[in-house]
Amino acid sequence: MPDIPSKINGVTIEFSSSVNKSVGPRIADALNLVVKTNIATGKVLNKLYISSANDQHKSPSRHVQGKGKAVDISRINGMKLSVYYNKDPAVKAIANAIQDEFEKYQHRRENFGPYFKKKLGKAHTMSGHGDHIHLSVN
Ligand SMILES: [Zn+2]
Repeated sequence: MPDIPSKINGVTIEFSSSVNKSVGPRIADALNLVVKTNIATGKVLNKLYISSANDQHKSPSRHVQGKGKAVDISRINGMKLSVYYNKDPAVKAIANAIQDEFEKYQHRRENFGPYFKKKLGKAHTMSGHGDHIHLSVN
């Protein structure tokens, strides 16, 4: 299975030390779709921080299903979503754009973050995810 690379479409990817970067092909595809420097109009995405991939969660979390079906993004351009989503317009625009773009991916499942929470394209109610974007695939 692919490892999440340290660079995707020109964007540097950083990882929490506990991340297992080995993920299924659909997560790799999804990242390739949503991670790009120009994802948000007028803003530049240079760096993403992945706090979890195929690790740190227990079944039935998609993180540890199959070869790894979920990824958590908690910092944009070095800024924590928990602190900067509501303070920095670029962080907010890029986070929102990532969530919007992931909705276009055909195998999307959970798309939870500070912008919205959707499961299989429908609004989904659950707690948390103000401090990271959780993307999972079927
Ligand atoms: Zn997650």
